[in-house]
Amino acid sequence: MRQRLYLFDTTLRDGAQMNGVDFTVQDKLKIAALLDDLGIDYVEGGYPGANPTDTELFAHDRKLGATFTAFGMTRRPGRSASNDPGLVQLLDAKADAVCFVAKASDYQVRVALETTLEENLASIRDSVRAAKARGREVLVDCEHFFDGYKANPDYAMSCAQTAVDEGARWVVLCDTNGGTLPHEVEAIVGAVTARIPGERVGIHAHNDTEQAVANSLAAVRAGARQIQGTLNGLGERCGNANLVSIIPTLKLKPEFAERFDIGVTDAKLKSLAHASRILDEMLNRAPDRHAPYVGESAFATKAGIHASAIAKDPATYEHVAPEAVGNRRKLLVSDQSGRSNVLSELDRIGLAVDKDDPRVGRLLEAVKLREARGYAYEAADASFELLARRTLGRVPNYFDVTRFDVNVEQRNNAKGERVTVTMAVVKVKVGDEELISAAEGNGPVNALDLALRKDLGKYQRFIAGLKLTDYRVRILDGGTEAVTRVLIESEDETGERWITVGVSENIIDASFQALMDSIVYKLVKSGAPA
Ligand SMILES: [Zn+2]
Repeated sequence: MRQRLYLFDTTLRDGAQMNGVDFTVQDKLKIAALLDDLGIDYVEGGYPGANPTDTELFAHDRKLGATFTAFGMTRRPGRSASNDPGLVQLLDAKADAVCFVAKASDYQVRVALETTLEENLASIRDSVRAAKARGREVLVDCEHFFDGYKANPDYAMSCAQTAVDEGARWVVLCDTNGGTLPHEVEAIVGAVTARIPGERVGIHAHNDTEQAVANSLAAVRAGARQIQGTLNGLGERCGNANLVSIIPTLKLKPEFAERFDIGVTDAKLKSLAHASRILDEMLNRAPDRHAPYVGESAFATKAGIHASAIAKDPATYEHVAPEAVGNRRKLLVSDQSGRSNVLSELDRIGLAVDKDDPRVGRLLEAVKLREARGYAYEAADASFELLARRTLGRVPNYFDVTRFDVNVEQRNNAKGERVTVTMAVVKVKVGDEELISAAEGNGPVNALDLALRKDLGKYQRFIAGLKLTDYRVRILDGGTEAVTRVLIESEDETGERWITVGVSENIIDASFQALMDSIVYKLVKSGAPA
């Protein structure tokens, strides 16, 4: 018989503990909606009363299908539940469920909490009772459970048992310090589920030995039926269990897929890569290219023989179908690759050619030659597409830059301050029209970019939404002399991003090539007339 497995997301609470992560109320509401749409069962919003953002968040009305959960401490030692302001605030929050954190290790109770083992159990009992009386679903995070269990299994168990006896829907076993290994998790969770039904046991794993995902799956094998984690593994120190890796594993690996149902449908699984990227975008972080399942390189194959096997049957070198999680297959064009890579890439970008077309061989030669000089077409997909289109004779000559001039000057200004001023002048020919543009920038490449995109005559409207989002420079040791490689990432008004490349001994030249490729790519993509 199939069993239900519940997913609990703590991106907004534990994930927000990560260095450099700072969510606003609006961010939190957006992420909660994203998680709800994905099919997550529980969304932990934060810690009402602990900071203004979370207090405001829990004052908001939300329309979520997911159980919106408030996090907080059990009542303080030596106080009654009704006489603990923190607990009162937690119970007043607009939440469907309350998740208490309680220590489940005798060492932590004595050293960190400075109270007795009995008082800690009483605090769990009173807090669960108070939240139940307010009509909330109750979860108890048993903090330091695994370390506590290793030192004193009876006490760790009695913390969990107290919560269950008092009517908590879930006791969640936490590997708070993240040091427990999968075989230990499986053994300890197995011992717990021998006494407490697995349908009431959850797992909360941290990634300090990079096994938070493995530990979560080990707990499920041992009977736990709730997994707590975060999007992209966000969390303090090394992060929490990554739901973006756990969800597809539960959905696509037979051991789990055949036994369990989760709230995420097959259709929603296809939006997983998108959800992962949205979060990175909100945090202004570059997505991890090598993230399992959803990373840009997760289904990228470079070597020629692998690529030709994949072209015959993708299952030869892929553990799951990339489309299942909303990702895509990528065959990298590189000097190791052969004709089959080039043909697959041409197919993907919609340039149909006969496989025996001599131009395919010419394109492959051009790629190899240019990569030997330092071009990186693996990264610069837009420059590859232009090279391919040019080899196939399909890129109009929209405009010519007949000359450009970049001037960098350091001098004293009128106030006697030392300043560096950069100015670029670009002369462009569009059809019979000659255009001259000048721009100041905060550096030579910025000035050149601004001048170049200032006036392209009849093409200006096509590039109005174009902007540069990243600029990377690398000095390559090209044998006798060093060359500079510039990679530029651009974005347009539709949110599409692309990367272009330029290579030269001169950094301005290299940048100019990459800028030109970006503009021409945008014109091609927008279907600008020749
Ligand atoms: Zn945690």
